[in-house]
Amino acid sequence: MRLAVGAGELASQASRRLRGGEGVVTRGRVVLALDPGALSQLAAGRRVVLVTGTNGKTTTAHLLAAALRTLGPVAHNDSGANMVDGAVAALAAQRDAPLAVLEVDELHLGRIADAVAPAVVVVLNLSRDQLDRGAEVAAVAASVQDALGRQPDTRIVANRDDPVVVAAVAGRPHVTWVAAGATWSGDTAVCPACGRRLTTAAEWSCRCGLSRPPAAFEFREGVVHGARTTTPLHLQLPGRFNVGNALAAMAAAQLLGVAPGDSAAAMADVQSVAHRYATVRHGRHELRLLLAKNPAGWAEMLPLVRNCPALLVVVNAREADGRDTSWLWDVPFEDLAPRTVVGASGERAADVGLRLSYAGIRHDTEADPLAAVERLPPGVVAVVANYTAFADLWHRLAGSAAR
Ligand SMILES: [Zn+2]
Repeated sequence: MRLAVGAGELASQASRRLRGGEGVVTRGRVVLALDPGALSQLAAGRRVVLVTGTNGKTTTAHLLAAALRTLGPVAHNDSGANMVDGAVAALAAQRDAPLAVLEVDELHLGRIADAVAPAVVVVLNLSRDQLDRGAEVAAVAASVQDALGRQPDTRIVANRDDPVVVAAVAGRPHVTWVAAGATWSGDTAVCPACGRRLTTAAEWSCRCGLSRPPAAFEFREGVVHGARTTTPLHLQLPGRFNVGNALAAMAAAQLLGVAPGDSAAAMADVQSVAHRYATVRHGRHELRLLLAKNPAGWAEMLPLVRNCPALLVVVNAREADGRDTSWLWDVPFEDLAPRTVVGASGERAADVGLRLSYAGIRHDTEADPLAAVERLPPGVVAVVANYTAFADLWHRLAGSAAR
């Protein structure tokens, strides 16, 4: 395995020189090609936390890594490569770190957990996402449930506000429930356990017995209320959903020995996550960069952008995004304020434009996002992009800043 890791390092360096980027996936693939059992060997002797769920994995993993660094070095797949090759690359790049935080794609949780025997698994939320690549939510939840079922000693941190998560985790020992919130209710019209109609009230419950568990970590008026602690929490990251991500990170960190106060202090220093939430000056515009790639993500993002004077929606549909753009029809664009000036952009600008037309939102359609920005009034622009659209835009903005 040492040879495989060395070869992975060389391949990663070559990839960075030849192709730009970070060479993360190349490193992981080379190591795995030479040693298919590398993941379990690389994880051996470390305490590993896996973070999974449809939305918030990357941010939660960054917050958790910040908290755990108060204990020592942490291996972390911080570029967001969240399948087996990304996990291998992160562990291979930081061989001496006694702790690891890995964000994990929901459908790859089983394979990765089997290999790394995680100390803790964080389950944030489960909702429709990339239906052409993945599967219906119920199938994803069943896959997560199976994966967790094979790890009887693993502690679980789970969002008690998402009925799909609760159904997938219920009955397990060692669960720490957090009140991480769930704005999107489009996948929980019926009870995930029995199919009866589910109340949509915050304190949801079903006659079959599935109900919202009491939370061990809850946020009220600026303070996190834990089992035996109260901790002020002041994040730089915006949005109620990031408070939920922080609660999950804080609970997981406490299971590994970090006091909530120390977690809160470490998490307060996090300003942006893989360039998300960053503000970039571009000519006459100040761009606030946000990522949303499915209806639930957009439901959480809308309160942040609803009253912005200008909004640019940038959507691609490459393999990593999901080829199917039908998810746009589940995004409640109708909730945008009428005076917001909206641009539809990205490789699938026409799909965005059509959706906005049906929502009754006046907009301008321009596939090139930087050209689209120029057509918006000067000042603050909220830019909400999906996965590859975000990455492309960031590279172009970073390139133009460097020139
Ligand atoms: Zn039920």
